[in-house]
Amino acid sequence: MYSKKEAANRAVVVGNGMAGKLAARVLSEFFDEVIVIEKDKNQKDAFARKGAPQGKQGHVLLKSGEEILEELFPGLLKELSQKGATLSDFAGDLTWSHHGSHKVRFESKVSISQQSRPLLEWSIQKRLETLPNIVFRYSCKVQNLLYRNNEVDRVVIEEQNGNVTEISADLIIDASGAAALHTKWLKDSGFRMPAKTEIKVDLFYASMVYRKLSSKTRDWHSLLSYPAPPLLNRGGTISPLEENHMLVTLIGYGEKNVPTDRDSFLQYSKTLDEPDFFEAIKAGLLRSETVQVYRFPSMRRFHFERQNNAPSGLLVIGDAFCRVDPVFAQGMSLAAMEAKALRTLLSKGLSKKDLTKKFHRKVSRIVDMPWLIALTEDFRFSTTRGYKPAGLPFLQWFVKKVSLACSHDEKVYAQFIRVLHLKSHPVSLAKPSLLARIFRPTIVKPRR
Ligand SMILES: Cc1cc2nc3c(=O)[nH]c(=O)nc-3n(C[C@H](O)[C@H](O)[C@H](O)COP(=O)(O)OP(=O)(O)OC[C@H]3O[C@@H](n4cnc5c(N)ncnc54)[C@H](O)[C@@H]3O)c2cc1C
Repeated sequence: MYSKKEAANRAVVVGNGMAGKLAARVLSEFFDEVIVIEKDKNQKDAFARKGAPQGKQGHVLLKSGEEILEELFPGLLKELSQKGATLSDFAGDLTWSHHGSHKVRFESKVSISQQSRPLLEWSIQKRLETLPNIVFRYSCKVQNLLYRNNEVDRVVIEEQNGNVTEISADLIIDASGAAALHTKWLKDSGFRMPAKTEIKVDLFYASMVYRKLSSKTRDWHSLLSYPAPPLLNRGGTISPLEENHMLVTLIGYGEKNVPTDRDSFLQYSKTLDEPDFFEAIKAGLLRSETVQVYRFPSMRRFHFERQNNAPSGLLVIGDAFCRVDPVFAQGMSLAAMEAKALRTLLSKGLSKKDLTKKFHRKVSRIVDMPWLIALTEDFRFSTTRGYKPAGLPFLQWFVKKVSLACSHDEKVYAQFIRVLHLKSHPVSLAKPSLLARIFRPTIVKPRR
């Protein structure tokens, strides 16, 4: 049982990324002590860190995640805005070319807060540091997990000075991200490994920060150029950061020519399905000296929900459980939804065994739809490899129809936005009133 009333109970979180932070915030309501163990050193400011190198790339916070963050940290959005985040209307302020057409622009009243990932993470960190029962242990690497009677109850950490210490815990959360600490530990301890699904997408991100874009009047805050598969595997985004800087990110699936310097960056931007992209940056003033490249080889999820004899007391959250193609901007919001699910389950006072089982089942359900949304698009690229779910061609056909309708129909686009932001189930797009709009014969205006 986990409740505030129990004395001296402790939870340990492995990893202080977004998933670890949000889990710690929730656990602080139920445990006397929450220890967060992070291999990176203690940061003094909002910079991308070594342990979360994706922080140098653009991070969009979806509405589903934003609402949970605001619930866990009231006033966070206002604080971000005071620190230089830009508020943008998702349909009104974003120009988005997708499957050969531009999305219709209108005031959707879906506002998003645009800031760098380090600022978001840092602001959350500062809030967590005000909670008296959360302790951060930096420059400490979790080496191992230990168990007794099928219950995981200790972590073994290596401190910066080489000391190795054991910390006992009533509950352990693996929020180690891409490292997925649990896989090595389960293997070494002789437990059955959960089944894994992997979709090879061979995606890269390459980003540069601009102080200023080319001097031209623009009517957008962000420019999104999604690739046009199967013909074009390249895309990019331009989005505002704090201090009036702009983050320019190029992406490519199965791409051989990854831009690694300013010239190749500009050349690559010329090849996108959006001529305004190159125009916006060609005479821009750079702040970055180098191109930051991040490679994302595969989407990957572990099926803990299918394990019957898994050890209890170890809950896996965030990217350690499932990594979805980041282009769909779902990772932080999934971590938030999972933390919220943890809160609901902890408040039920379940046994450790039930908590473990129910949490993993719930997380699996949370990631099901985002996973399907991402792979439906990713399998349009000829280089994507992996298990294709039944009905994929139909889904791809339908999504393309929806996407085209979004170029002229505000109602369809408004619902599509809700689905993208994980606020509505994709099935909501098949409501008769929307289907009539999606399949209404229309002449789509050529882009230019
Ligand atoms: C290129 C890219 C772009 C993205 N864009 C978006 C976006 O637009 N929107 C969005 O919502 N999401 C985005 N994501 C996803 C998002 O970054 C993550 O899904 C989200 O931050 C949750 O990550 P996490 O906390 O599970 O893992 P991480 O952020 O990877 O954190 C894991 C932490 O664990 C620590 N750690 C690992 N092993 C150990 C150990 N043994 N001991 C101690 N500490 C350890 C690491 O140092 C790290 O701090 C993007 C991801 C990538 C790669």
